[in-house]
Amino acid sequence: MISQTLAKAFEDIVGQANLMTEKADLVTYSYDAAVVDSVLPGLILRPTDGDALSRVVKLCNDNGLPITVRGAGTNLSGGAIPIHEGVVILTNGLNRILEINTEDMYAVVQPGVITAKFAAAVEAEGLFYPPDPGSQAVSTLGGNVAENAGGLRGLKYGVTSDYVMGLQFFDTNGDPVKTGSRTVKCATGYNLTGLMVGSEGTLGVFNEIILKLIPAPAHRKAMVAVFDEMNKASETVAAIIADKIIPATLEFMDNFTIRAVEDYSRAGLPIDAAALLLVEVDGHPAQVEEDARRVEALCKKLGATSVRVAADDAERDKVWAARRSALSALAKLKPTLVLEDATVPRSKIPAMVRAMQEIGDKYGLSIGTFGHAGDGNLHPTILTDKRNKEEWKRVDQAIAAIFDKALAMGGTLSGEHGTGIAKSCFLENETSKATLVYSRRIKSALDPNNILNPGKIIGG
Ligand SMILES: Cc1cc2nc3c(=O)[nH]c(=O)nc-3n(C[C@H](O)[C@H](O)[C@H](O)COP(=O)(O)OP(=O)(O)OC[C@H]3O[C@@H](n4cnc5c(N)ncnc54)[C@H](O)[C@@H]3O)c2cc1C
Repeated sequence: MISQTLAKAFEDIVGQANLMTEKADLVTYSYDAAVVDSVLPGLILRPTDGDALSRVVKLCNDNGLPITVRGAGTNLSGGAIPIHEGVVILTNGLNRILEINTEDMYAVVQPGVITAKFAAAVEAEGLFYPPDPGSQAVSTLGGNVAENAGGLRGLKYGVTSDYVMGLQFFDTNGDPVKTGSRTVKCATGYNLTGLMVGSEGTLGVFNEIILKLIPAPAHRKAMVAVFDEMNKASETVAAIIADKIIPATLEFMDNFTIRAVEDYSRAGLPIDAAALLLVEVDGHPAQVEEDARRVEALCKKLGATSVRVAADDAERDKVWAARRSALSALAKLKPTLVLEDATVPRSKIPAMVRAMQEIGDKYGLSIGTFGHAGDGNLHPTILTDKRNKEEWKRVDQAIAAIFDKALAMGGTLSGEHGTGIAKSCFLENETSKATLVYSRRIKSALDPNNILNPGKIIGG
């Protein structure tokens, strides 16, 4: 229970309007987008500048109060679930783009900047920030960095970690730690940036982020390839990569997802297709034309019944908007949606797609599949109702089976959604006991009072 005196001390830092204790507010920030149990925090704080953020962190540490920092709460592994009676720090008051440097091609932002707003501001300056999670319209850059978010363009352009040049974050004493620099290269000191990206709020609280920008591609071409068998589509993914073509985006959707998305977005997707590949190539116009021709030829060779090339930007945008709506479209169908992101080496995509069908059959569940197939990162999606205890048990078993399969193929538990609470019990299966011990040593050295988002990644 947070005492009146302590609450007053927090209020003195953030101001009355930025401190919330009403039940409705506590409930609002008790859950995120993952299917894990909600937990009521004790207090919500919304600092609006770095000084207030630092002082709040210090006050929490001095009083042994656990902190969960929250961007938009869209993460899918439970990273923003608070600790009972703990403090939630909202970053939506820290939402300024501090600098866009077109000459040296970097930007400095506060953590609460919305991803898509940032990408648009950068584009207005003639530059490009590629990481584009499906949630980009609401997700924050702080959340993206803390989860090492990916997106639709990961195949060619990489993920958030490939764009973080440096950080300023607060340690548990509220002292500013600086990592990286505004330079293209930086070999000074430990690579603390690498440690912090993907740390899910467990090692420090980001205050400023330096992000790399790149020139925008001169030309783009998007296409939709239609298949009458899932296998043919997944084999085409592997064949495109094996042929050394690196599209900007190479997405997969099975029939279950196509129907849900079409019903939701009316984008004109062929609802009878067994699977679709959504492909975009970009770069120099001549290269784009050649890559597009090669992709189209490969799709046809491997059995695509048709390949539709987007006639213009409007048609292209419609296709990508439809793809981005996949999760929301599926979520409408049943009370509970479990979305996984086990990832395999790309050559294993056909085997993984088959394995997911077998797992669905074995556990009597329908598992829809879509995702960033070009990265080996599929999103098997189970629609269920958590209140049905018998079915939920089978869902748990199916999830464990999906992870086992992915690991057996040399894959990973998470391509982009992080570990959070949802996957922490599986971490040792992918790594080793020593990895967990080592990680826990880092955590206890940097956060001796265990106040920074305890329980996430490495468990309690
Ligand atoms: C519809 C939908 C589509 C999605 N598509 C994708 C996708 O394509 N690719 C992908 O990678 N993910 C995707 N996600 C997952 C999610 O959007 C990402 O994980 C995103 O990075 C979370 O950002 P957020 O602002 O919502 O962070 P939150 O969920 O609020 O927080 C995420 C983690 O970051 C920590 N954190 C936030 N701010 C800070 C800070 N300032 N300092 C320290 N820690 C901090 C939090 O404590 C938490 O552990 C999707 C989610 C949804 C709902």
